[in-house]
Amino acid sequence: MVANSGAVLRGSMQLPGGHHGRWTAGPTGRAGVRRVRPGRCRAVAFPAVALHLYDTATRAVRTFEPLIAGEVSLYHCGVTVQGPPHIGHLRGAGIVYDVLRRWLEYAGYRVTQVRNVTDIDDRILIKAREAGEHWWELAARNERACAEAYRALNCLPVSIEPRATGHITQIIELIDRLIDADRAYAASGDVYFAVREQPGYGALSGQKLDEMNQGESEGQGKKDPADFTLWKGAKPGEPSWDSPWGPGRPGWHIECSAMARSYLGDEFDIHGGGLDLVFPHHENEAAQSHGAGLQFARYWMHSFWVTMAGEKMSKSLGNTLSVQAVTEKVRPIELRYYLVSVHYRSTIEYSPKALEDAARAFDRIESFLHRAADRVGPVQIGELPADFAAAMDDDLGVPRGLAVLHDHLRTGNTAMDAGRPEVVKAAADAMRAMLAVLGLDPWDPGWAPTARTTPSGPASGASRALETLISGLLEKRQIARSAKDFAAADAIRDQLSAAGIVVEDGPSGSIWSIER
Ligand SMILES: [Zn+2]
Repeated sequence: MVANSGAVLRGSMQLPGGHHGRWTAGPTGRAGVRRVRPGRCRAVAFPAVALHLYDTATRAVRTFEPLIAGEVSLYHCGVTVQGPPHIGHLRGAGIVYDVLRRWLEYAGYRVTQVRNVTDIDDRILIKAREAGEHWWELAARNERACAEAYRALNCLPVSIEPRATGHITQIIELIDRLIDADRAYAASGDVYFAVREQPGYGALSGQKLDEMNQGESEGQGKKDPADFTLWKGAKPGEPSWDSPWGPGRPGWHIECSAMARSYLGDEFDIHGGGLDLVFPHHENEAAQSHGAGLQFARYWMHSFWVTMAGEKMSKSLGNTLSVQAVTEKVRPIELRYYLVSVHYRSTIEYSPKALEDAARAFDRIESFLHRAADRVGPVQIGELPADFAAAMDDDLGVPRGLAVLHDHLRTGNTAMDAGRPEVVKAAADAMRAMLAVLGLDPWDPGWAPTARTTPSGPASGASRALETLISGLLEKRQIARSAKDFAAADAIRDQLSAAGIVVEDGPSGSIWSIER
């Protein structure tokens, strides 16, 4: 009945939401309530959500209308892989856009999600030189660390993660086009974008041309200090690619213009990234793409920072917290809850206490769901409450959505005490639906490898013995539960709890772990 895989005990029941919660929303069942049924997402002919998003370009909340009905094209900037990811990266390049995508997919849109990897950059070259390793080796290692961190926090795999170095041809073609359009000029082996030739330059970030600082070193042939680099002529010992302007490598901004175009075409729906990218990166991406005659992004979305002591978390400031360091304190699902619970357009000021509070809040939600599963049977992904949906439609109002979730938690707990199983069931099913939209469904198989059941590593004699003893007790408990002898089942749970073993039940079986 209960299959054992390492320290994770799980049954074989299929979750109603299907793997990774990719659902299709059916027509509205009754006013304000969407019915969810499992299956692959597909294009639908009705507006399943009335999503409104804050658009940085217009500085207004706008109704989201995709270019192609039923489809959404999303490009957002990933990480410059100069080091392992910190929790700021995970928020700005991972979770915020994962929640957006899940919400759009819930609505029935087919989402194409592109997140780039900047795998060549001055900082990568410097760090690799210092460490005495190949620049591409350092970049690849950090890219793997990012992928692992996204996965650990249950971010859905994106459609593609293009690397800058894999798109040199497309980058050269775009630069060529800009030179032909008199928006760019070659000088001393470099190529620069002439910002004064581009009407509307500065509009996205709301800056005046004379006050801008591109944050790059003065190039020899630069005609105007406000111009920025499209192609850098190679210095001795640096990696380079052949180009019409001599050997060199691309500037940072042109990479994203070229890669967005490669996968999403001349015009696409949403361009996202962290707030720090508005200038110069996104301003310059927009200028290059518009300068080349492309429509480019229709909505610009920016997520705020994670700060520590008021400073943006960044490698250069040395105030970063690696995902690994944080997940030694709390479980990955609790870290995700912490990062999700603040609106994406608000800064998260990191503090250990806030993290612990978030972990405890999530624990209360999870405990209720497990107790509900104990008492009233498997918790399903139920109907999504209309006020939760309204909060999400309002510029992804997750904090307001979580308030709805906590209302259900209170109702459910009260009903549990009052012995009203139908109310417990309704609350638990609705809660699971809300959690699934946020990527926080505790029974999502995406969490399995990193759930509270930390795998014990190579099985030692002691861990094998422990596993045998606990498995035996859990089997007895399962028999008691099947016979509705809850007193006996609870006694076994208490016995395990006294030994520091936590047991969690769900439709996919019982999971045990050693309490922290
Ligand atoms: Zn970018």
